[in-house]
Amino acid sequence: MADFIEILAQQTEVLALIAVVVGVSVGSFLNVVIMRLPKMMQATWQRDCVELLRETAPAHPGGAPDESLVSKDSSLSLSAPPSTCPHCGHRIRAYENIPILSYLLLGGRCSNCKALIGLRYPLVEGLTALLTLAVALQFGMSWQLPAALLLTWALIALALIDYDHQLLPDSITLPLLWLGLLLSLFDIFTDSHAALIGAIAGYLSLWTVFQLFRLLTGKEGMGYGDFKLLAMFGAWLGWQLLPQIVLMATVAGASYGVLLLITGQQQRAQPLPFGPFLAIAGWISLLWGDAINAAYLQVSGLS
Ligand SMILES: [Zn+2]
Repeated sequence: MADFIEILAQQTEVLALIAVVVGVSVGSFLNVVIMRLPKMMQATWQRDCVELLRETAPAHPGGAPDESLVSKDSSLSLSAPPSTCPHCGHRIRAYENIPILSYLLLGGRCSNCKALIGLRYPLVEGLTALLTLAVALQFGMSWQLPAALLLTWALIALALIDYDHQLLPDSITLPLLWLGLLLSLFDIFTDSHAALIGAIAGYLSLWTVFQLFRLLTGKEGMGYGDFKLLAMFGAWLGWQLLPQIVLMATVAGASYGVLLLITGQQQRAQPLPFGPFLAIAGWISLLWGDAINAAYLQVSGLS
């Protein structure tokens, strides 16, 4: 095993190959998380609502609400039931579930009913492989590598769930926030002092902007998930990288919003999820944040 790690440390090609194989496989799992986690959360909320109504309103005019209000997704989990074609219910067999390859071999269609399979699936697998490769090459064989990979994979799921549903699940952001604080004890990316201030500053900065924006416009421009996501980056990377993350995310988000307005694909009133831009900006800072800060300080003559 030690020899194997030794080889990996020296042979970039071997590390890169493993990164791509691991990346597409994790991407395949992320597709499941992105599709199912929001449905699972919704089913839980529905069940909680039914229970609450039963307890608080026994004399409900239409009778107490029953379980039929809970969606059929309530038995859904990340591991069961097995994947099926959403059009015909055809059970996806193991050889039809190989990342990217199966999509290409099947010509992007269900083997049973020939319905088109979303291009999203192979794209997420390819993206995950690409980002996994970038992280592996950036950090090499180090303690930072497994941590950075976990964060990268979580960010892919968060960004796409937020894009689809305007939702950043607590079940992903909060454990990662704690993990970031824990890693800081071992100085993996930053020290505990910077991580603690980062977590608090990350949350409070966006929370303050949110409250001011609501005071001025009466609208809610962000969600609480965005505050938690930035708190998470603060915990992982330290407060020093928060300004560049917010700046990059804001510029990218605003540019994208303007682009949508110009091309007429977005109505002004429609909210744009901020999470995907925060996730991209935070990921860039994870890999190159210190270099970006150093370059900025040099350009501005501060060091
Ligand atoms: Zn089908």
